[in-house]
Amino acid sequence: PTRLIAMEGEHQAPHVLIFPLPFQGHINSMLKLAELLSIAGITVTFLNTPHSHNQLIHHSDVLSRFSRFPAFRFHTIIDGLPPDHPRTIKFFAQIISSFDSITKPIFRNWLVSGHFGSNLTCVVLDAFFKNFVDGNDDEVKQPIFGFRTISACCIWAYHCVPHLIDDGQLPIRGEEDMDRMITNLPGMENLLRCRDLPGFCRVTDTNDSVLQFNIKQTQRSNQFHALILNSFEDLDGPILSKIRTLWPNLYAIGPLHSLLRTKLSRETEALNNLWEVDRTCLAWLDNQPPGSVIYVSFGSITVMGNEGLMEFWHGLVNSGRNFLWVIRPDLVSGKNGEIEIPAELEEGTKQRGYVVGWAPQEKVLSHEAVGGFLTHSGWNSTLESIVAGKPMVCWPYTADQQVNSRFVSNVWKLGVDMKDLCDREIVAKMVNEIMVNRKEEFMRTASEMANLARRSVSPGGSSYADFDRLVNEIRLLSL
Ligand code: UDP
Repeated sequence: PTRLIAMEGEHQAPHVLIFPLPFQGHINSMLKLAELLSIAGITVTFLNTPHSHNQLIHHSDVLSRFSRFPAFRFHTIIDGLPPDHPRTIKFFAQIISSFDSITKPIFRNWLVSGHFGSNLTCVVLDAFFKNFVDGNDDEVKQPIFGFRTISACCIWAYHCVPHLIDDGQLPIRGEEDMDRMITNLPGMENLLRCRDLPGFCRVTDTNDSVLQFNIKQTQRSNQFHALILNSFEDLDGPILSKIRTLWPNLYAIGPLHSLLRTKLSRETEALNNLWEVDRTCLAWLDNQPPGSVIYVSFGSITVMGNEGLMEFWHGLVNSGRNFLWVIRPDLVSGKNGEIEIPAELEEGTKQRGYVVGWAPQEKVLSHEAVGGFLTHSGWNSTLESIVAGKPMVCWPYTADQQVNSRFVSNVWKLGVDMKDLCDREIVAKMVNEIMVNRKEEFMRTASEMANLARRSVSPGGSSYADFDRLVNEIRLLSL
């Protein structure tokens, strides 16, 4: 009893530092974790680059939303790039290299010197920053939790890449080899074709620097104290079991946006906007019949050429369906937002279409007028579609999206995959597959999965329980 009393006296509120890669999809889910931990009574410091922080506070209501947690702090750290650097995916290698040489040492020094206060319990680091962690660095005392924002199926595929190389299944031998089935990826036997492997596998030489970088990064994940994933057992159970063989201390707490709704007991405005949100599309949706609209968005980083844009445009108009389309100002390379409706499509677009620069996506997907989602299969978008119970047409662009889209079509049966095809006839055909021809079948599986997702984040559900376990572990670490 004496020791217990002493411990109570010593007790400090747990304090977690959260540091995402400064890209939309990463900030989005890690900010949700920040809010969830704050609701659980944990002090959170959210670390971001000045550039992303400014975008975030300019376009989202984050400051007032987090003002209800007096101990919560936003904090910034430089990325080492000049102020006018575009910081787009095109310059990804440059961004990462600057992080490595400039940001990493500052970050480490801050941890060692107690910059965030003496009560810092642990760090939740975007697992993309794996090389920020050195398991042998005794001066960093705080346990580092890795948060992976991509899908579990892709994490597992990443992990198996060296095995595929040893086995002679990689490299891919050119375009004509893309449909070859990968026979022995453990847990995914005869499921992925070469084209369904993570984007960085699309190289003809296994010494490729990006491929090697990703292999090393994945191996470094072992240094994390624990791994946090935005997924849930009923969706990813078999893959999560595989991942647990490598990282036993695993928390599957997704879909995070849905868990947040449970904890708040209400719908909330998503705080993920790095662009100006155009809410007028909600009023437009209000005037469309239930299930009649295909929502089209390729996320925050996909870029396409004007030709591709025209194929999608013709395909959408020719599909005969109503469409709500997000054309980000930087979606089409070289256009800088100056997109004109092609004359021959003006009538069809006016009659059935609505185009915005950035949509309130979570709200759009849960709108009853939306009957399907043409998506780039980013992991946040995929989970948002799953929770909203909307079937998908997948047109993946990069990274985990190649694997996600295969799982959507062939494992979860929640839609169709049109990867690597960008042709007006195929666009129209695929849209009609989910909106008309196979609508009932897809609506049934989508609604079953939506129920499982909601169950997982409700009291008694697997993600709900894992989140409680995470909070408990953080509390114990703070004692
Ligand atoms: N998003 C949005 N409005 C849009 C397009 C996207 O709010 O018009 C959000 C979407 O809800 C998702 C995120 O941006 O949470 C995109 O993340 P995802 O992982 O799907 O793709 P990424 O942008 O990382 O490629």
